[in-house]
Amino acid sequence: MARRSGQIILLLLFTLVVLVTLVLLNVDVFVSVRAKHHIQNAGDAAAIAAAHKQGSLLNEMGLLNVEHMVAAIRNDTNECKRIVLEQRRKALLGPVEALRYANNAAKKNGMAVRDEFSEILRRHIEDIRLVYSGAGGDGEPYPEPFPGAWVDYATAIANVISEGLATGPDNMEFYDCRGGHLLLNRHFYHAVAAKDWCWFFFNCNNVLSDYTSYRDWGPLPVRDDAPFDNSEIFSLHLVSRKIALTDVFSKEEILAMVGRYSDVTLTEEDFDKSELISNSDETWFFFGSDSWGRWFNGLALAGDEYGYEFPIAGEIKEEYNVNGCASVCRCVAEVDAVAVDSHSLFTWSAAARPFGTLESFEGVLSPVTALKNFVVPSFTDVRLIPLDAARGGNLATADYGWVVHVREHLGSYLERGPHYANGCFYCLQLQTWERDYFRREGVIWLKYNSGSCRRPVGGGPGGHGGTSHGH
Ligand SMILES: [Zn+2]
Repeated sequence: MARRSGQIILLLLFTLVVLVTLVLLNVDVFVSVRAKHHIQNAGDAAAIAAAHKQGSLLNEMGLLNVEHMVAAIRNDTNECKRIVLEQRRKALLGPVEALRYANNAAKKNGMAVRDEFSEILRRHIEDIRLVYSGAGGDGEPYPEPFPGAWVDYATAIANVISEGLATGPDNMEFYDCRGGHLLLNRHFYHAVAAKDWCWFFFNCNNVLSDYTSYRDWGPLPVRDDAPFDNSEIFSLHLVSRKIALTDVFSKEEILAMVGRYSDVTLTEEDFDKSELISNSDETWFFFGSDSWGRWFNGLALAGDEYGYEFPIAGEIKEEYNVNGCASVCRCVAEVDAVAVDSHSLFTWSAAARPFGTLESFEGVLSPVTALKNFVVPSFTDVRLIPLDAARGGNLATADYGWVVHVREHLGSYLERGPHYANGCFYCLQLQTWERDYFRREGVIWLKYNSGSCRRPVGGGPGGHGGTSHGH
């Protein structure tokens, strides 16, 4: 009998252990679900806060454009100069301030400071101080948008970092790491790594069959094409143009804009007396047409008039059919498990952008760019958008390895071909790319399978809808 009850006690004990473990596992599930919610809220709040700042900066830039018109009509040279300088400072330094807003939002939502966010920017500040300003001794300094810009820019970023970052700007656009050349396209390297032949099919089909060796590459674009008007963090994608405003707008249009966006009343006589408004040395701020273009209406070509390839499901209203600027913020949090001795890392990236419309005098709404891309105050709203709809959002461009690769490795690669990768992911892909049989595999695969390639909605390889986890 004693033996029997001993067995029962053992059985009960065993059951108890199982039950307790189950309860603890449940606690873990609860803890991790709660943590995920938490980090998503924080990431979303950070992105929205930054986009909000972007929207108000754009409105301020628009108001300054209008003030500039008034000053130009009044022939006030000094005021014109002051306004343009203020615009230049705002375009470069304002979006850095948007990072501070994002950071405060992340902290308010309980995110802890993580050094990894600051680390990338700290290294970048060093580049601004040495490379951009030319102080490092090698190479010409980058053209400054205003005197002392690089010092102010580096200081502004350093100030934000000094508060400790709880979120990272995930769609940074480093000046000399973008556009124009396949070797400056991160998607290319990722397509090589993943053998994503469909990416080649959609983006550069012949390069797989035509490429013979690294000597085929054309030279990298020259640095002066780079958009120094804008911040690399949360860029507003504006361009400053030296142009006579009367070459863009009629007298009536200019006076109408002054009437609508300021409380100053100017007459045609004032206008006719002005020299500055028709002076081609005046600088005005416009939406950059590359970034502020319309969404490609590929579906209209297929007969579906309203089906823009907008990365948001459903129809897009005409007045919102404009690309633009966005902010992508990443949050990371560690969650400790209770039942098992481990912790996991959650990452969440969210994107948001400012929205607005222009209203004509007849009450018709049109996109913010409708005034020939001239910036006027028109932003009224901020919304979360899918990561795919934000430039540079889907590959986490806050990757310093990429910057190092472009700045330090590409030059010697173009001269001497692939070299020892030394831990560089991108150099490693160039080694793979150089192998004939690698590219031949792609050509053969596409010969039989290209029909199964689907262009990801919103463009970019591995595009996925909705806000989503980082890597
Ligand atoms: Zn490299």
